[in-house]
Amino acid sequence: MEKLKNYWNEFLEILEKKEEYNAITLLESSAFIIDENNNPTIICSGDFAATHIKKDFLKRIEDFFKYKCEKDINIKIIVDADFIKENNLKKEIKENKYRKPYKSSGYKFNSEKKIEKSNLTNLNKKFRFDNFIYGNNNRHIFELAKLVSSKAGTEYNPLYIYGNVGIGKTHILQAIGNNYLEINKNAKVLYIEGSGFRDEYIHGLQIKKPDIFKRKYKSLDMFLLDDLQLLESAQETSKELFEIFQVLYNAGKQMVFVSDKPPKELRNMEARLKNRFEQSLIWPIEPPQYETRLAIIDRKVKDLNTSIDEEIMKYMAENITTDVRKIEGAIKAYLSVRDIMKITPNVSQCEEMNIFKDYFTSKPKLQNATVREIKKRVSDYYGIEISMLDSKDRTKFISKARHVAMYLACEYSKKSVTEIGLDFNRDHASVIHGRDKIREELKSNSHLSLELDNIISSFNTEK
Ligand code: ADP
Ligand code: MG
Repeated sequence: MEKLKNYWNEFLEILEKKEEYNAITLLESSAFIIDENNNPTIICSGDFAATHIKKDFLKRIEDFFKYKCEKDINIKIIVDADFIKENNLKKEIKENKYRKPYKSSGYKFNSEKKIEKSNLTNLNKKFRFDNFIYGNNNRHIFELAKLVSSKAGTEYNPLYIYGNVGIGKTHILQAIGNNYLEINKNAKVLYIEGSGFRDEYIHGLQIKKPDIFKRKYKSLDMFLLDDLQLLESAQETSKELFEIFQVLYNAGKQMVFVSDKPPKELRNMEARLKNRFEQSLIWPIEPPQYETRLAIIDRKVKDLNTSIDEEIMKYMAENITTDVRKIEGAIKAYLSVRDIMKITPNVSQCEEMNIFKDYFTSKPKLQNATVREIKKRVSDYYGIEISMLDSKDRTKFISKARHVAMYLACEYSKKSVTEIGLDFNRDHASVIHGRDKIREELKSNSHLSLELDNIISSFNTEK
C-alpha cells in the first residue's frame, strides 16, 4: 500500500511536467492517505475541491493506479478541513519531497526553469507578435493588440477579445504581455485563465488567506484574463473580479479579457461585471482566411527546419478551416509518414492513406441530394423563385445563388457536370465556371462558407 503513495507522487510529477498547475494546486491542497481499512483515500479541505476532483481527476488517477498495479483501485474522496489544516502545517515544516509547496504568487513552483521561462507572470515566451501571422481580416486586432501593449492603460483599456477555439486568442493575449514586459522590465504582469483564477480565489478562501489573492491582483500593472467564460457561473469569484476590475481601472492599469463569446452572450455572468465588459473595447478575432492559413503552415514548416511541397501545403490550407491548432498536428502527421515510410506522398496518396482524417475540418454531409432539392433549398435560402436559377438573369445576386446551387450540385449530387448543366438550362462549361467561382471564393470568404453551412443544414429540416 505504501507503493500507492509513491504512485500518487508520481502522478503529481506527471501533472507538473505537463504544466497542469490548476490540477496540482487542487490535489496538493488535499491529502492522499491509506485509511485504517486499507482504502486509498483523498481527503479534501472542502466540498468544492471534493466535487472538482471527483468530476475532473478521479478517473484519471484511478486509471493511472490501475496501470501501475495492474488491477482496479477504487479511491474514496472525503472532506475533512481540520485534517488538511494539520497536514499542510506538517508538510510546510517537513517540505515536500518532490518540490516546494504552493506559493501564493501564481501557479508557479520553485523550479528554476519555470521561473526563467515565466518570471511569475504565467506567460509563455513562444507567443509573440513576430510569430503571429495575420491577414486582412485580422490585421486590425493585431495592430490593436500591439498598441495596447505599447500604450498600456490608456485609450484601449480594457480590451475584450473574443472568437472561436484555436484561432490565436491566447497567442495574441500572451503576446501583449510579453511585448509589454520587454518594454517595462519590472512591471507586474499576470496572465491567467478563468478556471485558474477561480481555483486560486477558492484556494485563498480555503487556507483562510483571501487577502493575499486580493492584494496580488490589485497591485498588477497588467492583467490578462483568458477564457473568462469559465467564470460565468462562479458568482463569488466574479464579485471578486469586479472589485479587482474597479481598482485596476481606476489606477489606469491595462486589462485584457479573452472569451469565446462577446459580452452580451455571457448570460450567466454577474450583471455588474458583464456591464463593465460591455463598456470595454470589444473586438473579435476572425478565423484566418485561406492565404493566412497557408502562410501559417509555411511558417510552421520553416520553424521545423524542413520543407513540404506547396501542393500539400495548399491542400492542408484548403481543408483546415477552423482550428489553427490542427495545422501543427497535420504537419507532424505528414512528416511522420515521410520519415517513417520514406515516401513523399502527393495529395491523392494522402487521401488514400487518410493521413489527415483527424485534422481536416469535416464538411457537413449531404446524402443523396438531388439537383432539384438543392435548387429548392438554395432558392428558399436566398428568397428567390426557383425558376430564376435556370433563367438568363445575370444580376449579381441571382448569379451568386445560381453558382452556389451549381457548386452544391457538383459536390453533393451524383450527376456529372453535363447532366447538372441540363438541370440549369446551360452547358457543362457554365457549371464548371460556377462551381470553381464558389470554390475559389470559399478560400477567403468566411461569410460565404457560413451561408453554405446554413443551406446544407436546412436539408435536415422538413420542408
Ligand atoms: P485559442 O486561444 O484561440 O484557442 P491559441 O492562441 O491557443 O488559440 O492558438 C492555437 C495554436 O495555433 C497556438 O500554437 C498558436 O500559436 C497557433 N496560432 C493560432 N493563430 C495563429 C496565427 N495567426 N499565427 C501563428 N500561429 C497561430
Ligand atoms: Mg486559448
